[in-house]
Formats: sequence, structure tokens, C-alpha cells
Amino acid sequence: MKTLLSEQELRIGVERLAKSIDDFYGVSPLTVIAVMTGSLVLFADLIRLLSMPLRVGVVQASSYREGMASGELHVDRRMMIDVFGRDVMLVDDIFDTGKTLDRLHDEIRGLGANSVRSAVLLKKIRSVEVDLRPDFAAFEIPDEFVVGYGLDYRDHFRNLPFLGVLEPSDLESMA
Ligand code: 5GP
Ligand code: MG
Repeated sequence: MKTLLSEQELRIGVERLAKSIDDFYGVSPLTVIAVMTGSLVLFADLIRLLSMPLRVGVVQASSYREGMASGELHVDRRMMIDVFGRDVMLVDDIFDTGKTLDRLHDEIRGLGANSVRSAVLLKKIRSVEVDLRPDFAAFEIPDEFVVGYGLDYRDHFRNLPFLGVLEPSDLESMA
């Protein structure tokens, strides 16, 4: 697998991301929500670098799809925390077409949040399909299918400590 971002590059990028979030929000309390499952690794690293008082929750967003093509989005709010009157920041692994975060922004605004912003590890350089842009992004990457550091291909490779570009030969190592 070709490495796009090494473990060290990821760490530096996440530190930079945390710094811009800290600078933006200062000491005001924040509710951070992890968009499961891809943001799992980023989320664990990021929240430990933030300085303001934090409330932490998760939301499940998944598209009905197998593999690499984006499909219809399903949002499961059963594990989410109360956002009414709160400043909320969604955390996701990657901003691709933007449909996932656009939809989640709408949902959380609809639940009465005071503000909704989003932070992502990666933003793909490609034609976005929505008006929304992530407020904080650690890296811009080319339009290639990446895995590792939480990102999967059919639920594999999330545990890789680096970010790699999936190649056909990598599929042989899948169970
Ligand atoms: P969007 O709704 O912005 O098009 O897509 C966001 C979701 O698509 C991400 O949360 C992620 O699950 C998936 N996705 C988009 N690009 C990639 C990619 O390069 N690799 C992986 N593993 N998932 C991706
Ligand atoms: Mg995802």
C-alpha cells in the first residue's frame, strides 16, 4: 500500500487542527460529536488535545453502499447526546462530496443547536456537491480512495496507523 500520510504527518496535522479549533472557540464550552465509524481514531486523538470544557457524543451516519461508491445516507441518532442550545462541532474523517456533513448539519440545527460547525481530517480536492464547507480541515488530498487512521474499505484497514492509498493487491489481505 502506498503511504499518503505517515503516522508522524498525521500527528502534526491533528495537532494543527486542534490548535485552530482551540483558537477559534477559546474557553467556551463545546459539544463535539463523532460521525461514526470513520472518525473514531481521529476523534480519540483530537479531543485529548482540546482545552475547552467538552461534552462528547457520537452519531452514526452510513450510506447504503458496498465499497467505494457513495449511496443514500442513513442517520442513526440513538446514541447522540442533547444538542439543544449548545455550540456543536461535528468531527468526521473525510469531506468528499460533502453530503454527509451537510445532512448532519441540518439535523443538528433542527434539534435546536446554538451553532453547528465541522472538523475533518481530510478534504478531497474534487467537485463538492453542496454549499457547505468544513470549518476545520487538517489536510487536503487528491481524489483517491484512502484507508487507515479510521477510514475503511468494507470495514477493513481502519486500524492502520498511517493513511494509505488502496491498491488492488491490498484486497488479497482482506479476510
Ligand atoms: P461525503 O458524504 O462527503 O461524500 O462522504 C463522506 C464519507 O464517504 C466519509 O465519511 C467516508 O465514510 C466516505 N469516503 C469518502 N471518500 C473516502 C475515501 O477516500 N476513503 C474511505 N475509506 N472513505 C471515503
Ligand atoms: Mg464515514
